[in-house]
Amino acid sequence: MHDILPEDQPFFGKVYKEADEIAEFYGFQKIDTPVVEDAELFSRGIGLSTDIVEKEMFGLRTKGGDYLALRPEFTAGIARSYIEHGMFNMPQPLKLYSRGPLFRYEHPQAGRYRQFHQVDFEVFGEKSAVIDAQIIQIFYNFLKELKFKNLIIEVNSIGDSQCRPYYKKLLGNYLRSRENSLCADCRRRMRENPLRILDCKEEKCQPVKAQAPQIVDHLCEQCNAHFKSVLEFLDELELPYHLNPYLVRGLDYYTKTVFEIFEDTEEGRQSALAGGGRFDSLVKMLGGKDAPACGGAAGVERIIRAVKERAKTDQIIPAAEKKIFLAQLGELAKRKSLKLFEEFRKARISVAESFGRDSLKTQLRSADRLGSEYALILGQKEALDGTVIIRDMKTGHQETIKMEKVVNEMQKRLRK
Ligand code: AMP
Repeated sequence: MHDILPEDQPFFGKVYKEADEIAEFYGFQKIDTPVVEDAELFSRGIGLSTDIVEKEMFGLRTKGGDYLALRPEFTAGIARSYIEHGMFNMPQPLKLYSRGPLFRYEHPQAGRYRQFHQVDFEVFGEKSAVIDAQIIQIFYNFLKELKFKNLIIEVNSIGDSQCRPYYKKLLGNYLRSRENSLCADCRRRMRENPLRILDCKEEKCQPVKAQAPQIVDHLCEQCNAHFKSVLEFLDELELPYHLNPYLVRGLDYYTKTVFEIFEDTEEGRQSALAGGGRFDSLVKMLGGKDAPACGGAAGVERIIRAVKERAKTDQIIPAAEKKIFLAQLGELAKRKSLKLFEEFRKARISVAESFGRDSLKTQLRSADRLGSEYALILGQKEALDGTVIIRDMKTGHQETIKMEKVVNEMQKRLRK
């Protein structure tokens, strides 16, 4: 878990602002669910034998004996809220958007934290493939707006309760015949969740994977038609995608479409920036009505890491701008400048100050360091006369102006 220090806040601000704008444009309403939920919500929703629940969930026992968990992802909590507040009675599809911290007890490594943040978009109550394509498009556009280039979308279909059990059996039979060629983790997965083996990055498992039966060849008619339709929409939107038959994602609730978005850089493919998919049976499984749904999430820290890398060369995150610096000298001037500072706040003009300092030289140096265009100087004489000196920091030119006119004057100068 890590601190988000002041220097990182502008990056978070930028990512969230972009997400807010995307949400507004595509008609998503914001929702915040608690950070802590009943642990059973995740074990039932995500699946007991998934890595997230089995290995990565932070659980806690309350004094009353309830077993709670820090949310490891958004979808299950939002689905719970959708059911609890009868949101299926609202006009569907219902588009919900959330952002905030999540917790996974993972092995810490670059780009992988135990507390991290996601931006999450979910659409409830719509089974059409157009929604799958729109969710993918939303994450793609979100990353594009953040100036990511060379984005690549990976998609797959993992079927549904009609066709997946048969495929799992087929895959299981195949894997059993190759058990000795699998890594230790995969030998364990084989019994619990054979689909996850397709996800394995171990060198040893790659030849086994390459010859494994692929789910897209075993989809039922409905899933097949749905997937075809998603791909047609993606073609229509001219989104760059690859079919990845090994993409299964680690959660039990997915049905049909799954996707992940990556950036290809000179150093090669980076870890996923966003991912998601369709989850048509989750709401029902959690005790709600039959509500098909689709959604996804993007990892804020991963995005920021890449944006920061780029910012070194592109300077795409400007420092907070303070074009005016308010400098004061003497007790009376300090009191007057506190008042003047408030006048600027009311006019919504951002002004830097250094009320704790008494030396004019130090204050002007600060103004210089901040890159302020103007310093407003209030000394003992100005405080008594009711005036302020405006100093142009570039030219050093100074002029005196009546205090009650200074906000207006600065407004005019900044507009220029
Ligand atoms: P997931 O919910 O696992 O599909 O993750 C969606 C996105 O969240 C990923 O593509 C990552 O960008 C990000 N993410 C997932 N787990 C972590 C983590 N432990 N630390 C930082 N980012 C993460």
